[in-house]
Amino acid sequence: MSSVLIRYHEIALKKGNRPYFVDLLRRNLVSAVEGLSLTESKNLQGRILLSFGDGTNREEISRRLQRVFGVANFSFVERVPLDLTVLRERIVQALDGRHFASFRVETQRGDKNFPLTSPEINRQLGGAVKEKSGARVDLNHAELTICVEILPRDAFFGFDRIPGPGGLPVGASGRVVALISGGFDSPVAAYRMMQRGCRLIFVHFHSVPYLDKTSQEKVRELVKFLTRHQFASRLYLVPFGEIQRQIVAGVLRPLRVVLYRRMMLRIAEAIAKKERAQALITGESLAQVASQTLENLAVIEQAATLPVLRPLVGMDKQEIIDQARRIGTFETSAVPDQDCCQLFVPRHPATKSKIADVEEAESRLDVAALTQLGFEKAEIEEFRFPA
Ligand code: ATP
Ligand code: MG
Repeated sequence: MSSVLIRYHEIALKKGNRPYFVDLLRRNLVSAVEGLSLTESKNLQGRILLSFGDGTNREEISRRLQRVFGVANFSFVERVPLDLTVLRERIVQALDGRHFASFRVETQRGDKNFPLTSPEINRQLGGAVKEKSGARVDLNHAELTICVEILPRDAFFGFDRIPGPGGLPVGASGRVVALISGGFDSPVAAYRMMQRGCRLIFVHFHSVPYLDKTSQEKVRELVKFLTRHQFASRLYLVPFGEIQRQIVAGVLRPLRVVLYRRMMLRIAEAIAKKERAQALITGESLAQVASQTLENLAVIEQAATLPVLRPLVGMDKQEIIDQARRIGTFETSAVPDQDCCQLFVPRHPATKSKIADVEEAESRLDVAALTQLGFEKAEIEEFRFPA
């Protein structure tokens, strides 16, 4: 049997709600390791313990846990009775076959009633390890770190501390609707909000049959990928071509992109209301393209009543691309496609649209009917991880 001890930090700060957040994290961990023969999950003091049946695949468990937001780090551990002699023997035994020139013991005492302090425990265990291995103690650059946890009922030890992604458990901050396009930015924006504890509902606008289906296929791929962090996702595919056609028929070129964006926000907001989501997320970054000047961002967001959150607003394109590589969305986003916003628009759209001009242009359209059209015609797809 193997066990994993999971450590978190940020949720520990949320005093009143702490038990709720910890339990949410525990449930997310359970979802993450579905199909890997989990036998038990429980909250210990400031830690979560997962136990697995025989024949578990450590690499896969580790890969999955590294994606769970809220996890600071984790260790594969052995459980030992609360007795220093037994602990010492078991550690020395477990070192069989391991070669290392330097080590340190790092004890954390969740049970303050234990008769020895952490430094005393480190010293006693360290002495035994040194004797057995001949390795030297190195507090700063140890080749092997032996983590020991003293909890009220049991002690645990392990040899590695694998970093998690940090952040907050998905669901802790509520539900939001993410506008996802298939480009580089929106999947990174989605990831960053998930890391802040949001559960995402995805919305994609496509212009089939005016454009091909590539953007939809990319978005499916991206949502599938991001679902590994929230375990279940819903994607709304909104046919936008007819709406664009009507905008084009009534509105001069320079304002079209801003009008497209405002329609997207209205439709996304209708979906958000149905889904009880509290905000809209976009991948906009200040001044990255003409539609993202301060003037245009202001005019665009006036179409929504919910807050429009833009987690990338202050990031450079290169920083965004670097993060896309780190989180694994780069390859899919790099596939060439045609975004619906490029349909029927000029090379140089208005960079400083004025709300009066935009409202005047919209007065020639039936905005409510177009919003309803997008909302009603949306197709819904569900994603699960593991599939
Ligand atoms: P991205 O890389 O995310 O496509 P971008 O730099 O290409 O962003 P824009 O095309 O101006 O920027 O889009 C800005 C934001 O508007 C996107 O990040 C996304 O949140 C939203 N958006 C744009 N097009 C679509 C679409 N077809 N479906 C859903 N959301 C979209
Ligand atoms: Mg785009």
